[in-house]
Amino acid sequence: MTPCLEMEEGTLRHPLVGTPSSAMGGQLAMSERQVHECECPHCQQAGEHPDKARHHRMNLFLSRLDEQQRRWYVALEAERLGTEGDRRLAQITGLDERTIRRGREELLAELADRPTDRVRQAGAGRPPVEKKIH
Ligand SMILES: [Zn+2]
Repeated sequence: MTPCLEMEEGTLRHPLVGTPSSAMGGQLAMSERQVHECECPHCQQAGEHPDKARHHRMNLFLSRLDEQQRRWYVALEAERLGTEGDRRLAQITGLDERTIRRGREELLAELADRPTDRVRQAGAGRPPVEKKIH
């Protein structure tokens, strides 16, 4: 009945305890331009993993897309991964699984409810004011 004191002491003895991890990142403001940080196991693990750079690039790319473009791209990526796709892409991108499903359904429906002219910004195409008729 002797408790293993050596191991307990070893784990408790940390010379640098006064460094709170919250000081490193803190709470970041939620904005559209914010690049989502992947929460998949590969990116959470210590050390290098090829997925880390790739998932970061995916989220970087997604941060520049609008909402519907995001879910179509993520739906396509999820499709490539098969049955686990929706769940894994939700983890990587922070998008809701239902959002990803919706994106896939829209693509399967040939984006019928998403006319292309909606992409144009309002007021982007100003008609020429001056007409030179002489
Ligand atoms: Zn990841």
